[in-house]
Amino acid sequence: MFKPKVIIKTAANRHPEASLLIIYTGGTLGMVYDKEGALVPFDFEQILERIPSIGRFNLQITVLSFVELIDSSNATPDTWQAIGRAILNNYSEYDGFVVIHGTDTMAHGASALSFMLQHLTKPVIFTGAQLPIGAVRTDARENLLAAIEIASAKNKCGGALVPEVSIYFNYRLLRGNRAKKVQSILFDAFESNNYPLLAEAGVEINYNHSAILKPADGTSLNFRCCFDPRVVLLKLFPGMSKQYVEHVLNIPDTRGVVLETYGSGNAPTFPWFIQAVEKAITEGKIVLNVSQCLGGRVVQGRYSTSRLMEEMGVLNGFDLTTDAALVKMMLVLGEYGAEAEAAKKELVTPLCGEMSVK
Ligand code: ASP
Repeated sequence: MFKPKVIIKTAANRHPEASLLIIYTGGTLGMVYDKEGALVPFDFEQILERIPSIGRFNLQITVLSFVELIDSSNATPDTWQAIGRAILNNYSEYDGFVVIHGTDTMAHGASALSFMLQHLTKPVIFTGAQLPIGAVRTDARENLLAAIEIASAKNKCGGALVPEVSIYFNYRLLRGNRAKKVQSILFDAFESNNYPLLAEAGVEINYNHSAILKPADGTSLNFRCCFDPRVVLLKLFPGMSKQYVEHVLNIPDTRGVVLETYGSGNAPTFPWFIQAVEKAITEGKIVLNVSQCLGGRVVQGRYSTSRLMEEMGVLNGFDLTTDAALVKMMLVLGEYGAEAEAAKKELVTPLCGEMSVK
């Protein structure tokens, strides 16, 4: 899946300030124009030609590139596993990791890695770009340079400043499992409506220390990589038909349902709808309630239209994003197999800052 590692020539002398591994998976960032004017992926070994300032970092930078670069629309749990294994296998050798990834499913990828790398003590920073590195006004340059700087930033004791999985984009650092792609044209592609920024880059990079996860003492990296993709997303909309709801809930083999409800977790109280959800739960499917709103949270029981959810055994997804909810559902189902109670318990417990339950 990966090409051999390539060491990038930087100003690092015998005493580099930190060592970084860049994992290049594809996406718009690494695209250049070929002779015919079409966008094609570029060979990351030539990064210094495109962004010579990378050479000025006093860092030891190594690049690990997918053999086949992908548009992140083609990402699957296999992609997340490959990135996770690359980090696991190189964990002790590097101080930080930068993952270059397409923006379309970057929030899913960053969420997945946050759940896979429990008790992380080093930065894993996803970044990408809206305009290719070969475009004159590209945002790739700033995004990559700042991601490298943040991934190598250390505190006074030599520990990482941001020991969690995050996304750096357009001058802002967001928690990966709280982020959502909200823009396809403008440069500010990501939002994190329910959690503060971890850092903001201006003349200096200002870290929001109180918002950044602190690694637990005495724990070592716990790598989890089993995903069960037998999950469906049921998005509610006024006028949806009984057939639509029943078809989605009855897809053979489904084990988990992310129910994207209205407002603070509300759903219709039509008997056919309630019966369909109830039947899914009776059959052993796990149903998790998240909101279609970008900000706010699910409060089951606030309105009578969500009280029924609570009574039926639908789990409260609090302020989880839909992207993080889908990935977390796949992970807990993969991890716990048939132990539905253990899977349910993890779904309503924050694992790495992905939701606020209070
Ligand atoms: N389709 C691209 C991708 O997600 C878009 C991007 O990189 O921004 O791979």
